[in-house]
Amino acid sequence: MLSKNHSLDPKDWANFREQSHLMLDDMFNYLENLRENPVWQPMPENVKNSFQKPLPTHETQFSAIHETFMKTILPYVVGNSHPSFMGWVHGGGTPVGMMAELLAAGLNANVGGRNQSAVEVERQVLKWVRELFSFPQTASGLFVTGTSMANLIGCLCARMAILGDDVRQNGLRNSFELTAYTSKAAHVSVSQALDISGIGTNALRKIAVNENHEMNCDDLERAIFADKKAGKTPFLVVATVGSVDVGAIDDLEKIAEICRREKIWFHVDGAFGALAILSPVLKSRLNGIQHADSIAFDFHKWVQVQYDAGFILVKDGDLHQRTFSSPAAYLQRAERGLSANSPWACDFGLDLSRNFRALKTWFTFSVYGTEKLGNVITHTCELAQYLKQRIENETQLELLAPVSLNIVCFRFRCENANQVNNELVIQLQESGFCAPSSTTLNGHVAIRAAIVNHRTQKQDIDMLIEKTLEFGNREIKKYD
Ligand SMILES: *Cc1c(COP(=O)(O)O)cnc(C)c1O
Repeated sequence: MLSKNHSLDPKDWANFREQSHLMLDDMFNYLENLRENPVWQPMPENVKNSFQKPLPTHETQFSAIHETFMKTILPYVVGNSHPSFMGWVHGGGTPVGMMAELLAAGLNANVGGRNQSAVEVERQVLKWVRELFSFPQTASGLFVTGTSMANLIGCLCARMAILGDDVRQNGLRNSFELTAYTSKAAHVSVSQALDISGIGTNALRKIAVNENHEMNCDDLERAIFADKKAGKTPFLVVATVGSVDVGAIDDLEKIAEICRREKIWFHVDGAFGALAILSPVLKSRLNGIQHADSIAFDFHKWVQVQYDAGFILVKDGDLHQRTFSSPAAYLQRAERGLSANSPWACDFGLDLSRNFRALKTWFTFSVYGTEKLGNVITHTCELAQYLKQRIENETQLELLAPVSLNIVCFRFRCENANQVNNELVIQLQESGFCAPSSTTLNGHVAIRAAIVNHRTQKQDIDMLIEKTLEFGNREIKKYD
C-alpha cells in the first residue's frame, strides 16, 4: 500500500486539461447566451429524483459527471445571472468574477490568517473600503458570507462596547437590560443578530417609518428616552441603507447625531445600498455613513461580485479584535515564518477556515474600476425610474411605494387584487420571461422588481410590463 500513489490528481493531465477546457467553454456559452434561455424553470420530477442516488463508492468519469451537471443542474438554477431576474436583491456575477473564483479554487488557500499573499489582498480591499467610506486607518474589516453575518458581528462589537471585555467570560448574566433600535423596514437578520448574541429579540425596538419607508427619527428619540427612563440601557441603533422592500435610506446624519449624543453604537445595514457610494449620482444620499461605528454590506449584490462576498467594516479596529480573538496554542503567532503577519482574519470573526473571497472582489475592482461599477449602479436606478414611468402610464397598473433607488413595487389593479397579484408573480416566474417577486405593503400584495443585475436593459423592463398586463388580463377573465 505504501508504495502505491493515492493522489487524487489526474493520471493523464493532458486529458484532464482538454475536458476542463470544454467545461470552461460551456460556462462561457451559458453566460454569452443567457438571454436566450428562460430566467428560471421549475425542475421536472425526474430531474429532482435523480438527486436521490446512494453514496458513490466507485470512480466515475469526470466527463460523465459534467454531462450530468449540464443536464440536471445548470438549467435549473435560481436565475439571478439572467438580465430579466428582478426577484430579490441578487447580484448578477461577472465573467471576471467567475475566472477569479477559478483561480482562487486552484490555489485553495485557507485565509484564516498566516503569512501569505491572500491576506494582503484582503487588506488591500479593506484599504479601499476605508477610503470609500472615509473611515480611519485604524478601522478593521473582514470578508464574511453575507450581511446577515456582518450584522451579527456588528451587534457583537456593540455588545462589547457597552459591556466591556468581560462579557466574553461572564456572558450576559450580570448585565443590565440592553435595548436596540431599528426600523420596521429593517431586514430580519437584524433581529436574528439580537437573538444569537443572547440579548434577545424583545430588546429590539422596531421604530415606525415615514411615508418614504425611512426610520422616523422623532420616534427613535422618544423610544430611547422612554427606555432610559425605565432603567434600560440603549446600546445599538441599526440604520438601513437600501431597505429590502423598497430601497429606502434612513436619515444617516440625524441618526448619527442621536447616537453620538446618547453614546449608542451606530451600525449601518447597507447590504446592497452602501455601495451606492460608488455612484456619483447617489453618493450624497449616503451622507452621514462616515459617522457609523460599523457598516455591513455585500459585494455580491450591487457590485456583482460572485457569491458569496459580504463585508463588515468596524471603525474601532482594536475593539473589533478584542470582540473575537481567542488565543490557542495551535494559533500561536511568530515574528517570521508562516505564523507571522498578525493580526489574522480569524481574530475578527467567527470563522477560522475561510476561502479567498477577497480575490474575486479585488479582480472585480481592478478590472472594471469604480467608475464602471458606479455607472452600473446608477443605470439600475434609471431603469427603475423608467419602470415607474411605464407603470404610471398604464391604467391597469399602480405603484405601491415610492421609487427611491432600484426597487419598484406595483400591482395589477383588479378585484381580489391580493390573490390575483400573488398568482401573477408565480405565473411570471413560471413563464420564464421574467422573475419578479412579491411582498406585502400596507396589506397590499405587491409585485416587486429589484433591478440589480448589470445585464438588465430597457427591453427587460418592457417585457415585465407586457407580460404583467397579458397575464393579468388573462387571470381576471377567470373571475368573470
Ligand atoms: C440582502 C440583505 C441582507 C442579508 O444579506 P445576505 O448577504 O443575504 O446575508 C440584509 N439586509 C439587507 C437590507 C439586505 O438587502
